[in-house]
Amino acid sequence: VENLAKIFDGLKIVDLTHSLSSEIPTWNGSCGFSVEIKKDYDHDFRVQKIQMHAGVGTHMDAPSHRFQNGLSIAEIPVETLIVSICLVNVVKKATPTYLISIKDLEEYERAHGKIPSNSLVIGYTGWDRFWHNPDQYRNVDKGGMMRFPGFAAEAAEFLLERNVAGIAIDTLSPDPPDSTFPVHRLVLGADKYIIENIANAFRLTAKGCYAIALPIKGAACTEAPVRVLGLVHK
Ligand SMILES: [Zn+2]
Repeated sequence: VENLAKIFDGLKIVDLTHSLSSEIPTWNGSCGFSVEIKKDYDHDFRVQKIQMHAGVGTHMDAPSHRFQNGLSIAEIPVETLIVSICLVNVVKKATPTYLISIKDLEEYERAHGKIPSNSLVIGYTGWDRFWHNPDQYRNVDKGGMMRFPGFAAEAAEFLLERNVAGIAIDTLSPDPPDSTFPVHRLVLGADKYIIENIANAFRLTAKGCYAIALPIKGAACTEAPVRVLGLVHK
């Protein structure tokens, strides 16, 4: 316990996870999460049953989400789940169709140094400010297409060259819904993970923070809710 206290000394813990409820925005607009009360303290305990989409709220996509022989959620190496964070801040330019570019990553590296191997790169677009308004967060245009910021395919390739552990974003997906999902194909195809709907990224600094990203350990799961904590220097 003493050693553990030393590790955490000088760090504060921030929650990068949205709370799950039946109200939250989902990919297809349906209810993604519900809790049913099975016993209501009738023998002293309240017992609940949860029903949810696997990919609901702040969640992780495993390689098997896109590739039949890819790693499942339970098979993702734990060494890739507690890692340093690189926060790529594009809030000022993140229009609803903005894609984080190689230029953004190069700017990040000029300011903060090379993106280290086995780090989690969070694309911080500021879109999570709409989380509590599902219509705004999903932002369906006149053609029926959702519009929110993401990552460009070339940026994903750049990050895979850096051998990152995974990427995260504060929207429903790093790929625009009218794309062929190249970022999913590239990142999951390289046996890395994707975290969607990250919260509170504004609490992080560009470098020097750590992530603890622990999904529910579903044996054959291709996606799973994840509790993401950030460790930030005080
Ligand atoms: Zn996804």
